[in-house]
Amino acid sequence: MRVVRQSVDQNQGIFLPDNLFTEGISNSDYYLLISSRPIDSQYTLAYAAPCSHEILQFNPLLLSRPLAGSINFNPGTDQLNDPDLLLNPFEYAKLIRISLHELTHALGFASELYPYFVDSNGMPYNNFTKPYRYNSVIPTHKVISPKVVDYVRHFFDCHTMDGMELESSDDMVGEGLGSHWEKRLVGNEYMSPVSGPELFVSRLTLALFEDMGWYRADYTKAEGNRWGYHEGCDFVNLACGSANWGRYFCSAFETEDSPFHCNGDQTSFGICDLTEHTQPLGGYAYFTDPYYGGSELATDFCPIYLGYSNTYCQDVVLGHQWSGTYGMNFSSTSACFDFRWGEDSTIDAACYQLSCDNGLLSIKILGDVVSCPQAGGEVAINIPYQLGESLHSAFITCPPADFFCGKNTSLLVLGPTLVEFSHSIIGIEFQMIILMISLMSLFLYHLVNE
Ligand SMILES: [Zn+2]
Repeated sequence: MRVVRQSVDQNQGIFLPDNLFTEGISNSDYYLLISSRPIDSQYTLAYAAPCSHEILQFNPLLLSRPLAGSINFNPGTDQLNDPDLLLNPFEYAKLIRISLHELTHALGFASELYPYFVDSNGMPYNNFTKPYRYNSVIPTHKVISPKVVDYVRHFFDCHTMDGMELESSDDMVGEGLGSHWEKRLVGNEYMSPVSGPELFVSRLTLALFEDMGWYRADYTKAEGNRWGYHEGCDFVNLACGSANWGRYFCSAFETEDSPFHCNGDQTSFGICDLTEHTQPLGGYAYFTDPYYGGSELATDFCPIYLGYSNTYCQDVVLGHQWSGTYGMNFSSTSACFDFRWGEDSTIDAACYQLSCDNGLLSIKILGDVVSCPQAGGEVAINIPYQLGESLHSAFITCPPADFFCGKNTSLLVLGPTLVEFSHSIIGIEFQMIILMISLMSLFLYHLVNE
């Protein structure tokens, strides 16, 4: 495959070698140029963009799928300089997820390419997005392409949904047209704008890849994302507030001494991030006092239960400190469960191992197996405050079984991701290439710095 010389200069100072324009490399579908150059910010781990596109013969003004892209890992970030990085598989998996996120931008999830996406007939969409105002005020857009819409209607169980909201806060041109999903609605989906410890490659982004018209996705490799699952139309259409605080959003000032709650997708536990801001929150104000709101702009300042860095139930290394408390178990198949103490009804949260059998959820607590009702609800358990002490009665909250055991929500076992795409136009499969490239880029980074 040969790349095409274009006036669009998005190669970010990396020059494509001449031979890619002349003879190319046989049996190739995509070239990724990987660099590790310092940038101004110490917080941006990496950025990426496509830099060469197929030109369509019937209309040379239209760009088709990216032929090459560049990704730059910022060598100045703490994450890449952490000497313990390779000792914690959970942290390492996180960096691979961030690489996948960047690669996804370089493969086409970039707002400047929306006008070039094509439908199933290969024709440009009349509109791929439409303007929308969150909370009737904040300008943003929704993706309205067919597979994305079909997926979100089923996932959120809102059959009138007319599109999937894009993140408003990462907009470069002031029109609310971003290149990420709205974090308030997708939580830790890997194409949300904020990198969390666990990032799920869900069917939502795979549906977007298919709607670009340039890729076919293997949905069997999609990972579960539980955030917002079956929460209905109010969850997606209304601003966060008393109508939908539910398990995702919260409304109480808490301190480090407050009881723990599981976060919305039950991957960790923490406290409500409601804080007092120095400026009124305008369109993001949900309380009588407009200075009160959650801590993150990406979540539209909706207050959420925020996990601490050492409370991710799958982080075996950092979770070790909790292993004596409440009989907790941090493992690759653990998740967070809220519970209520029998004696005084105070609430709390803990990490336990779960399993799914025939669509039913069970939770393993200190050798006992608790079977959850299919519809969810409280189940009596006995747990110690500290391992070896006497047992106390408590009631654990089971979510509905398909929150963990459904097709689109199953627990992600962190590790290498096998996302497969096959290229629909030239029909050549490139299995696992995303994983290999992202793994490769981390290795290259280490070599470059030795
Ligand atoms: Zn991004």
